Amino acid sequence: MRVVITGAAGFIGSHLADALVDRGHTVIGIDNLVTGDLANIEQLRGRAFEFIEHDVTRHIRVEGAVDVVFHWASPASPIDYLKLPIQTLKVGSLGTHNALGVALAKRARFVLASTSEVYGDPLEHPQKETYWGNVNPIGPRGVYDEAKRFAEAMTLAYHRHHGLDTRIARIFNTYGPRMRLGDGRAVPAFMTQALRHEDVTVFGDGTQTRSFCYVSDLVDGVLRLMEADTHEPVNLGNPHEVTIEEIARTIIRLVGSRSRIVHQPLPVDDPKQRRPDITRARTLLGWGPKVGLEEGLLRTVDYFKRKLAI
Ligand code: UDP
Repeated sequence: MRVVITGAAGFIGSHLADALVDRGHTVIGIDNLVTGDLANIEQLRGRAFEFIEHDVTRHIRVEGAVDVVFHWASPASPIDYLKLPIQTLKVGSLGTHNALGVALAKRARFVLASTSEVYGDPLEHPQKETYWGNVNPIGPRGVYDEAKRFAEAMTLAYHRHHGLDTRIARIFNTYGPRMRLGDGRAVPAFMTQALRHEDVTVFGDGTQTRSFCYVSDLVDGVLRLMEADTHEPVNLGNPHEVTIEEIARTIIRLVGSRSRIVHQPLPVDDPKQRRPDITRARTLLGWGPKVGLEEGLLRTVDYFKRKLAI
């Protein structure tokens, strides 16, 4: 197949590109490098991979036939979308529209990277795909949450109105090599701090929960979703739920760090709990995560050590 990935130089996008090229497909990666990094796709040089540096909020031009479009471009860390609020809204809305336009013109399948943030600060726990969410549209996180909710609505409108073959992956917290060191999310922040023996900054009292999925499991789920026959959103994530205090302690222990935990104010609208119900993914895709938290964290530590030259 010939596949387009927007956001191909990003964390998950680049792993997705690797997996598709490994399976014998040709990938056209598009990225404006606002949060992506060419170092993430260096290993694809000389392989069936072409890179186009482009901002997908502007018209996207792709020559030749395309079988699948993966729309992965977006800032995805709370501090990134606080710094880039308009770009985040634009890539989720205009960028999704443009990426859908490519899929329609090429009669390609379209796969949207959506997010557990569509559930906001969830009042239903764990979160099933049928839950409509609890999002503050005008809070600082609203730029991401609403852009992704719009992206889902637009994707289903293309499916219903144009008969486009679409998929929606609701991606829960994912971690692994190629997360940006300074992207501010819990795992890269704690790892960088622990490896440098600096204070580990837990926001709030640390009792808020997340469920962390290792990136290879996530990519496996995305590829199964691409091949499955469903237009409904599908949660992809690891249901193993931990408190943020727990993940901070685990990282400090695995790194063998002398860091102490310090508490800082909780960001506005920070979800108190998050865990995917993955019954749909298990049933429709025969998918479930395989990499345990400590195993995944250890693989990620190796990457951070190399990046920090430790
Ligand atoms: N968090 C933290 N310290 C940090 C970064 C994040 O305590 O240095 C917390 C954050 O407040 C949230 C959780 O870790 O409760 C996960 O945050 P992240 O930014 O990784 O992703 P989110 O799930 O909020 O999108």
